[in-house]
Amino acid sequence: MTHPEMNELYELYVLGALEPELASEIDSHLAEGCEYCVERLREATLAAAAMSGMSEQLEPPKYLRDRVLASVRPRKQSSQWLYAVAGLAAACVLLFAYSLWSMNTAQSLRDRISVLTQERDQLRSAVEVLSRPDTRMVQFGNNNAPRGRVFLSPDGGVVFAGSQLPQIASDKTFQLWLIPAVGPPESAGTFRANAAGEFVNVFPGPVNLTGINAVAVSVEPRQGSSAPTTTPILVVSIG
Ligand SMILES: [Zn+2]
Repeated sequence: MTHPEMNELYELYVLGALEPELASEIDSHLAEGCEYCVERLREATLAAAAMSGMSEQLEPPKYLRDRVLASVRPRKQSSQWLYAVAGLAAACVLLFAYSLWSMNTAQSLRDRISVLTQERDQLRSAVEVLSRPDTRMVQFGNNNAPRGRVFLSPDGGVVFAGSQLPQIASDKTFQLWLIPAVGPPESAGTFRANAAGEFVNVFPGPVNLTGINAVAVSVEPRQGSSAPTTTPILVVSIG
């Protein structure tokens, strides 16, 4: 493997998600003490650790815990807000990791990495939205229903994340809507939940939140709809 090739792989390496053959090739290269790669490894580890957020509420996958978190001490979050951000960041990692394993194995490694890189960038931008000073958070749900948090930032966009969404047919998708006091709902992206019902939908900004009273989720055909075609299964007031 060349350095540019390895560069693409370090994120997966620290997530413990790399094919064993490739991982051991990197293992032995690192064992030679290449300074460049040790630095790249450090960066990738920090990125993964930052995304995992050290949440106590959501447990990272075992391989993530073993390979990444072992080297980093959990930090107590004094602020409720930071705690929420950490929790969501951890949820992002869970979903990211889930998507690693649910990915079609027939895809080439290069295709998979490109998809994963896209997804990782999306999750990173989610974490960025969450840490903006103008971001507002609304919590919703309870133990027996979909629950989670909506993060809204005019510049950063909307991040909608949580758990306990119902399973839907594979030709359907969830779609998030911004519901204004006057006028039709506006789409804020389509998303799916994992097998455990966990979900993260990132709708990048800028977004006009003036007059938006609620967000809603409906079940739509896979490609999404220009207006809701079914009764929302979830409405969260943000007014
Ligand atoms: Zn190297």
